[in-house]
Amino acid sequence: MSSPSSFDAIVIGAGAAGLFCAAQAGQRGLKVLLLDHAERIAEKIRISGGGRANFTNRELDVRAPQRHFVGENSHFCRSALSRYTPQHFIELVEKHGIAYHEKHKGQLFCDGPSQQIIDMLLAECAQGGVTHWQPCKVDAVAYAAGEGYTLQTSRGEVRAPQLVVATGGLSIPQIGASDFGYRIATQFGLRVVEPRPALVPLTFGGDAWAPYADLAGLALPVQIETGAKKERMSFLEDLLFTHRGLSGPAVLQISSYWKPGAPLTLDFAPGVQIDTELREAKLRSKKRIANELAQWVPSRLADAWVGQDPALSRPVNEAADKALAQLAERIGRWQITPSGTEGYKKAEVTAGGVDTRDLSSQTLESKQPGLYFIGEVVDVTGWLGGYNFQWAWASAAACAQGMAAASQTGL
Ligand SMILES: Cc1cc2nc3c(=O)[nH]c(=O)nc-3n(C[C@H](O)[C@H](O)[C@H](O)COP(=O)(O)OP(=O)(O)OC[C@H]3O[C@@H](n4cnc5c(N)ncnc54)[C@H](O)[C@@H]3O)c2cc1C
Repeated sequence: MSSPSSFDAIVIGAGAAGLFCAAQAGQRGLKVLLLDHAERIAEKIRISGGGRANFTNRELDVRAPQRHFVGENSHFCRSALSRYTPQHFIELVEKHGIAYHEKHKGQLFCDGPSQQIIDMLLAECAQGGVTHWQPCKVDAVAYAAGEGYTLQTSRGEVRAPQLVVATGGLSIPQIGASDFGYRIATQFGLRVVEPRPALVPLTFGGDAWAPYADLAGLALPVQIETGAKKERMSFLEDLLFTHRGLSGPAVLQISSYWKPGAPLTLDFAPGVQIDTELREAKLRSKKRIANELAQWVPSRLADAWVGQDPALSRPVNEAADKALAQLAERIGRWQITPSGTEGYKKAEVTAGGVDTRDLSSQTLESKQPGLYFIGEVVDVTGWLGGYNFQWAWASAAACAQGMAAASQTGL
């Protein structure tokens, strides 16, 4: 029987984190095998940012990066993110001559197709002498002290003292997502925070949504919030009405914080004191209420809200103060409770994942010696806007550094 191939490190999952980790570890002198079960690797990079990859965010505060991340321990991500910063990745992108531009709130996108980022990562892997196996299925992983990890794969048996799990989360199952990372964590006795869809549109029960279904396609800026007291989170972003519920950046952001059964509160006219405006309008105007309201919110929304109360289908000067106050409350503090989310089919990321209590924030090594978890499989979830890729790059860099150090000291 031929002896199994052996490497210094095996990285499972050739997505954003796995590609970058393999490249960095290879360039630090490790003999690395990168394998992926999918025919086409890094599909999420390819489809990201509408095909232009929002690859990082300049507004990430390297002194307090946790501000833009969700997880049971949001401080866990600090070490890696403050050591490998957006500026480091920007320098890499510039070194490869990839043109980019800044959009909204520090978000950096490629000018051309996101394939450029994949090509860049592959070139970095080539520079690190990384071996690629794909498609390659991992059937079993075993560990023995002194021998390290032995993998049974569709391309035979392979061994390494260090194993990196970079298999991502559960979102978009149709392009290769799997629960492999959580299963390996459980196999080695590590804890997993229940995964859930995040950065995901929210849905509302059929009848409850009926009055708003006609608003599908309407987009407007809103202030949106959820959670009580200390846990309250709020975003000022665009909202999109859909046939089944709410979407757009405002809802994707808040979805990562939303707990089932909790209401959302929306202000459709952020920065405008609608109650004061309507009271003043009553003194000076004979226009219909919906027309007055349309100065501050889109007329489709104004019509829909006014249409829900017959007392409001009249000129503003004839309206009762109470009816105007109630309307102002529904525009400035609309409360609605989602019935659920659009699920993993539509979620940009998976929140939850390998419990950070069982990982080193310095190296991403787990309590199981030589076993590392990086990227989305970890219970670290970024805001919309390039933060998830920055976590993939930073956790990959920290892991590669940790593996190189461990390899030198023979640990
Ligand atoms: C539509 C969409 C748009 C997005 N846009 C952005 C954006 O613009 N900016 C941003 O920051 N984030 C964006 N994200 C999120 C971002 O893509 C992910 O957070 C990021 O790709 C996570 O990197 P990762 O390496 O951990 O996992 P992934 O990139 O998902 O890579 C995981 C890899 O592991 C492989 N794999 C899975 N299971 C196995 C297994 N059992 N065996 C072997 N291989 C396996 C997969 O085939 C895949 O190649 C977007 C996500 C989606 C779905």
